[in-house]
Amino acid sequence: MIELDRNAILKEMGVTQWVLRDAGGDEVSVQDATGVSAPGEGMQSARPERGEIANVKRPPPVVEQPIQAEPEREPAIPHEEVPVALNLEALCDQVAQCRACELANSRTHTVFGEGPGQADWLFVGEAPGQQEDRQGKPFVGRAGGLLTQMIRALGQSREQVYIANTLKCRPPNNRDPLPAELKACEPYLLKQIQFLQPKVIVALGRISAQALLGSDQPLGRLRGQVYQYGPDKTPLIVTYHPAYLLRQPADKGKVWADLLLANRQFPV
Ligand code: URA
Repeated sequence: MIELDRNAILKEMGVTQWVLRDAGGDEVSVQDATGVSAPGEGMQSARPERGEIANVKRPPPVVEQPIQAEPEREPAIPHEEVPVALNLEALCDQVAQCRACELANSRTHTVFGEGPGQADWLFVGEAPGQQEDRQGKPFVGRAGGLLTQMIRALGQSREQVYIANTLKCRPPNNRDPLPAELKACEPYLLKQIQFLQPKVIVALGRISAQALLGSDQPLGRLRGQVYQYGPDKTPLIVTYHPAYLLRQPADKGKVWADLLLANRQFPV
């Protein structure tokens, strides 16, 4: 992607760009976290990160934590609908028939996920909202618009990545998923990831991060690290959910830092 495009997208997203200048005020070339050197391009941050001094005219470093072992987690609880599908399409069909929890009674459509089966990047959200339930596609509402911009800022198109959710059915009135619903739906996401074999996973928001990592830690504690997911030790990065960013646009810089961390695991 041309850098100008990326800058325009970041500006549209409301991500403040940090510009490194020399003593004479001219922009200098810096390396961003993707390793690509671009004139005047630094890490973007809407706010100083923890422990940083405000107004410092240099890009805040992204500190890459050592890769952590996957936290201990309970194995997926088997239920009557445990996936027997042999491929992604068959799994999608099985999800469409699923009646493993109460959400089957209120849904219009199941929302399996979308994207190429060979996608390198997998984004995992929480659960379908109203628009997604109507259309049977993930992230097609306002939060989806922002997610699409985030993906484009990384130099990819939405069609290149795979987008899925932790729950495949919409909870009524967009309430938080119940533990029983998460448990019932978990095997589908696990199987979906097995079929996709992505090179990097981005967990969007607390529900997705906690489900994938088997953790009950708050999102603020989970982000900023690279986890190894599953037997393939797929790098997994946690970031804020785009719907949260619509309410808290000041945190867009943090999300951009998380995405650059993900990009370092598997550069676009
Ligand atoms: N929020 C999500 O987590 N997923 C969607 O598909 C839409 C909104």
